[in-house]
Amino acid sequence: MAGVEGRVALVTGGGQGIGAAIAARLAAGGAKVGVLDLDEANTAAVVAGIVDTGGSAIGVRADVSKADQVQAAVDRVVSELGGLQILVNNAGVLRDNLLFKMSEEDWDLVMNVHLKGAFLCSKTAQKHMVDAKYGRIITMSSTSALGNRGQANYATAKAGLQGLTKTLAIELGPFGVTANAIAPGFIETAMTKATAERVGTTIEQMREAVAAAVPVRRGGLPDDVANTVAFLAGEESGYVTGQVIYVDGGRGLI
Ligand code: NAP
Repeated sequence: MAGVEGRVALVTGGGQGIGAAIAARLAAGGAKVGVLDLDEANTAAVVAGIVDTGGSAIGVRADVSKADQVQAAVDRVVSELGGLQILVNNAGVLRDNLLFKMSEEDWDLVMNVHLKGAFLCSKTAQKHMVDAKYGRIITMSSTSALGNRGQANYATAKAGLQGLTKTLAIELGPFGVTANAIAPGFIETAMTKATAERVGTTIEQMREAVAAAVPVRRGGLPDDVANTVAFLAGEESGYVTGQVIYVDGGRGLI
């Protein structure tokens, strides 16, 4: 068996944006996909799109920062889809502000969704992977992990996820489970639209600025990330672990 065919995947934050593209890409490769989001209604269009094109998917409601909800979501995926071999920790929120204006609530929310969410989902999912001696954990970091104005909370969480990824790689590697992170640059979604608005520009202007600054001369799209996930989620990537793959058009090279 190659790629992700016949595997079961859980994609957090799969109701829109990058997560929706990842869910569709994995389903197109033959995986059965649990599309997890805060509100199950948000996953309906993603699930319908997959099922309409002959794929297999279910929508799952959960807040990734709540242990009981994560456990229930994983249990449901395992019982309805028949196991769990691929976890994509993608759910995310922004609460940007300069440090002196950043509230404790906004710090805590970003830590809870990104860091605690990835911890809880990975901890709950790994049991099924270790039992099966096979698994793939892919976690969404960001170029912001290297530092970004107005994102003290988000940059810290995204850097923390790189540490989590490398530790999972060390602990789970002997059981056939790899763990890798993807660090996207600018990818056009609702999240980057909100960022554009915050800094007083538009998504179109932001896309043009990014295109001028990166070697590949265009902004990123959700499918750019989804294609990278498909590789890391597949059987053939088994000797790649503990890595952070920057999907950013070569940002910083020119
Ligand atoms: P998005 O469009 O805002 O999608 C994020 C999804 O996560 C939403 O569906 C959201 O649900 C869900 N979510 C938020 N909190 C959750 C929680 N507690 N439990 C479960 N689901 C939750 O963002 P995106 O641009 O696709 O980003 C996806 C991931 O890539 C994030 O981790 C982000 O940090 C990372 N990333 C994005 C970019 C970029 O340029 N877009 C760059 C680097 C990294 P609701 O809509 O209901 O809140």
